[in-house]
Amino acid sequence: SAPLSIVRGAGEAAEQGVLMRTGEAFQALRRVTTVIFDKTGTLTVGKPTVLEIETNGIDEEELLELAAGAESSSEHPLARAIVDAAYDRHLAIPKIENFQSIAGQGVKAGLLDSNGSTYRLFVGSPTFLREQGIEIRLMNESIARLERLGRTVVGVAREQRIVGLLALDDALRPDARETIDRLKSSGIGIVLLTGDNSRAAKHIAREAGIDEVYAEVLPGDKAETVRRIQNDKRTRVAMVGDGINDAPALMQADVGIAMGNGTDIAIEAADIVLLNTRLTGVLTAYEISRHSYRKML
Ligand code: ADP
Ligand code: MG
Repeated sequence: SAPLSIVRGAGEAAEQGVLMRTGEAFQALRRVTTVIFDKTGTLTVGKPTVLEIETNGIDEEELLELAAGAESSSEHPLARAIVDAAYDRHLAIPKIENFQSIAGQGVKAGLLDSNGSTYRLFVGSPTFLREQGIEIRLMNESIARLERLGRTVVGVAREQRIVGLLALDDALRPDARETIDRLKSSGIGIVLLTGDNSRAAKHIAREAGIDEVYAEVLPGDKAETVRRIQNDKRTRVAMVGDGINDAPALMQADVGIAMGNGTDIAIEAADIVLLNTRLTGVLTAYEISRHSYRKML
């Protein structure tokens, strides 16, 4: 059984909404020297909104209808934002078939037209569209402009033609800056790890006070990035995340920390759960683990 000070520490943490699932995690946490944060839903609130729309050959409403149709079966926060934007404008969301979601990239679907023919729709990152063989060069300048503003840019293509861009933004959590400042002043290194474009990632990193950024990391590569950080720096790492795509990275980290409102898969993969979804819970957990250990000596 765990030493009494650990049991007390876990109780104290629980009172503050921090669920410590194992005594080992608690003991590993006090030795952590790097904390890696996922971006969307972890450092940010995870409720993006569509801020800007750019079209190519169709009108804004049609663009939004196509995008919302393709996204209507996706649970991704970006998908929800796009569907909400269509609802806000009272648009009819078209029915789709053969929906397919590619984690960390986007979605594909078939749209049945009123005259009976089916069109392929693609909605996702510019890299995703390019990989589908879609020529997006004619919108490159718009993509760069929107990314420089720190936006997440989602492209929409019908068949092989890009028909527009949606620029989305997601707010930094109000306690992100404080959490990061205090971890840094304890001598902890902070890293941002995300599948989003590097300009949007750097924008959020600057706001949060993070210098080290890994962007455009596919879900399958997040765990490998954590492993590289562990090896290259010979450091013990805590990873904080919320999504399905973070689960392998949470398991690879010395300590996995999941946001309480995260997906079940992330919560199951984690050693520590921040039940109240406050980032300051990372500080609470860290400080209590150090404190409990000192009492044990
Ligand atoms: P994060 O690491 O920030 O949680 P994800 O790995 O879920 O992000 O997604 C990375 C990128 O892939 C997004 O920024 C977006 O460009 C694209 N993407 C993923 N899912 C979707 C979707 N359903 N619709 C549009 N784009 C998507
Ligand atoms: Mg996330």
